[in-house]
Amino acid sequence: MNEKAGWNLDNSYARLPELFFSVIEPNPVRSPQLVILNQPLAKALGLDPEALQAGEGIDVFAGNRVPEGSLPLAQAYAGHQFGNFTRLGDGRALLVGEQLTPGGERFDIQLKGSGRTPYSRGGDGRAALGPMLREYIISEAMHGLRIPTTRSLAVVTTGEPVYRETELTGAVMTRVASSHLRVGTFEYAYHWGTTEDIKALADYALERHYPDVEKKENRYLTLLEEVIKRQAKLIAQWQLVGFIHGVMNTDNMTISGETIDYGPCAFMDAFSSDTVFSSIDIQGRYAYGNQPPIAVWNLSRFAESLLPLLHEEQDKAIELAEKTLSQFKDLFQNHWQSGMKAKLGWFGAEEQDEALISELLHLMEKHRADYTNTFLALTFDRDEKNALFEDEEFARWRERWQARREKHAGSSADSVQLMKDSNPAVIPRNHRVEEALEAAVSKGDYSVMEKLLDVLSNPYAHTAEQAGYSSPPPDDGQCYKTYCGT
Ligand code: AMP
Ligand code: MG
Ligand code: MG
Repeated sequence: MNEKAGWNLDNSYARLPELFFSVIEPNPVRSPQLVILNQPLAKALGLDPEALQAGEGIDVFAGNRVPEGSLPLAQAYAGHQFGNFTRLGDGRALLVGEQLTPGGERFDIQLKGSGRTPYSRGGDGRAALGPMLREYIISEAMHGLRIPTTRSLAVVTTGEPVYRETELTGAVMTRVASSHLRVGTFEYAYHWGTTEDIKALADYALERHYPDVEKKENRYLTLLEEVIKRQAKLIAQWQLVGFIHGVMNTDNMTISGETIDYGPCAFMDAFSSDTVFSSIDIQGRYAYGNQPPIAVWNLSRFAESLLPLLHEEQDKAIELAEKTLSQFKDLFQNHWQSGMKAKLGWFGAEEQDEALISELLHLMEKHRADYTNTFLALTFDRDEKNALFEDEEFARWRERWQARREKHAGSSADSVQLMKDSNPAVIPRNHRVEEALEAAVSKGDYSVMEKLLDVLSNPYAHTAEQAGYSSPPPDDGQCYKTYCGT
């Protein structure tokens, strides 16, 4: 360990073939100010929050100082954006290094908004405060929801403006990820590298994320299979809480199975499969109900990139890839089904389960019932004053739900506990997130955001305070729009 703050960095990614990255000079900013620091995360990483808040600590978050052991680099990758293949790379991010934690784990430390890189194309390499705080809030909320995700360690303002439609406050976010390997990193290797390069990347991914996979002949097929498993589980978890990523391009899908890149994402209020928040997703490609098939589409691009490693004969490789990809559907369905059963307080399995679940979702969609609050009402067995709860068909459904619940529960208390553990009391509602961002960005008042982060940190606690955060927006959220790339 080299520094007061506890930085203990390695640079294993820099040992990959050179085509995967560019070593870069950091771009200092005028006058960095720390606006938020994730103290529990800092401690878990083996970092000292006190030292991180001092001048030298802040300088690291701003890209004004490179900590000892860091080899700053921008990662190269490609990706299918809304279906179109493009060469990409960290255009506004810098990998400081990999922090080796006291617990023996390894996490990428990445600055986002840190200035231009060889992959910036026309962009300025910078980020605005609002979107960085938004990523901070939503990624930490996802962590609270127990969904694999990149985390947010800190946000600093730069003292420099960024120019979008208007002049905005510049900021840099420090992102922590179990790695930044993406499906798009593999696509990049396939299109611009040799088979040896793909192999180096695949070996690296296996070592970093799937160390238990034996060094046997079909280990690359196992890599495909394992990534499919993690993504099937991840997407099921998204669906279960009503999370809409908004820009599931292949460069925004990780090999680790963590949620990454919080741009136009948002949580659904009224339940509807075709919910889209992103202003640019005109076709609804990344709508709520499309997330599972889009995941398969993305994983197919991953499989294609691995083809040279799967079998010497390419038609055999394709056959293996297709067979493996076909597993996604059942894997997803199993996670989703068991998640839904937990949300409904059901133990065991009954033939009627699937039909009962779809009937509920159908009724919720018909009445535009609030997704989160419907499950909360069922958890606490209370009535809501809305069209769903006034519908007689729903009343009948509710009786069948109760009867199903009594079939297997050891005790009804167990069933209630299962529901409390599976139905969050609070999600980062769009209007609440906006309110926190407005106070922070326009008034420099971070107390609203801190309070929101606090209630989101354990959404399964069901405290009285959290109840105050559960009201849906007045217009049931239909008009809310999100934007990327600011
Ligand atoms: P995203 O939409 O956030 O997944 O980003 C897509 C690509 O655009 C990535 O390669 C980013 O690094 C790049 N990018 C986004 N914003 C900027 C910016 N302000 N300057 C340079 N590159 C950017
Ligand atoms: Mg991205
Ligand atoms: Mg992004």
